[in-house]
Amino acid sequence: MSELRTTSDLTMKRKECPTCQALWIDGEHYWKTGSKGNELDLAGLVCNRFGGSNCINPLKGEDGGDTWERRRGDMEIGFKSRKEKMEDDRKKLEEGFFD
Ligand SMILES: [Zn+2]
Repeated sequence: MSELRTTSDLTMKRKECPTCQALWIDGEHYWKTGSKGNELDLAGLVCNRFGGSNCINPLKGEDGGDTWERRRGDMEIGFKSRKEKMEDDRKKLEEGFFD
């Protein structure tokens, strides 16, 4: 955050991809949320599929970044462990109730 504060708005070069709305500030990619981005992930998630010919991501067309397939895998793992924890909690709760 501090590096953002020391850069004045006047000297920042802001570029936005017309198709995927990705944002580059002084050549650094940022996600829409404002956190620091990753051009390769952006390419895998958005630009390679939806960027089209107007996309300004320099890494568009490159493989190796994050993809929805990978994200879905992460989500399934996360969901499974959450579900297990929930069932565990419920079991504990039920045991408490029926003691
Ligand atoms: Zn793009």
